[in-house]
Amino acid sequence: MVERTLAIIKPDAVNKRVIGDVIRRYEAAGLNPIAIKMMHLSESIAEGFYAVHRARPFFHDLTTFMSSGPSVVLVLEGENAIQANRELMGATDPQKAEAGTIRAAHGASIEANAVHGSDSPETANFEIGYFFPSMDLQAGH
Ligand code: ADP
Ligand code: MG
Repeated sequence: MVERTLAIIKPDAVNKRVIGDVIRRYEAAGLNPIAIKMMHLSESIAEGFYAVHRARPFFHDLTTFMSSGPSVVLVLEGENAIQANRELMGATDPQKAEAGTIRAAHGASIEANAVHGSDSPETANFEIGYFFPSMDLQAGH
């Protein structure tokens, strides 16, 4: 099934100059960008995005990190895009991520782990709508 997922190239990866490498990996895996923008998330935008994690001990550090510099926010479209992107990203902790994954290649820590990817159809729907109005999606190119 063709799906859409929300991806973020996080501030650590932008800072490491690997935007191009990460997008190359998406395209090579059949995950086609249908919307893309660079933005410096404010702390409150990061808090809204990660609201499901607000009770976690790492929430404040996470939203501080996510608002520490610009990110690249994308909608990816492809066959089983949500799961496919999770596999391409690798485990949350880069030290546990399989070789060949984005986090194994570019993640520095469990927090600064290079990329975000939606984890279910429900979160993908919320996250895509959080950043992109439907008119900004270039579907099926
Ligand atoms: P994922 O991004 O793999 O879906 P989670 O949804 O569990 O992982 O966590 C969201 C983000 O919060 C992670 O990508 C990471 O940046 C950060 N994070 C997760 N667990 C921790 C932790 N134990 N300590 C610090 N930051 C964390
Ligand atoms: Mg998650």
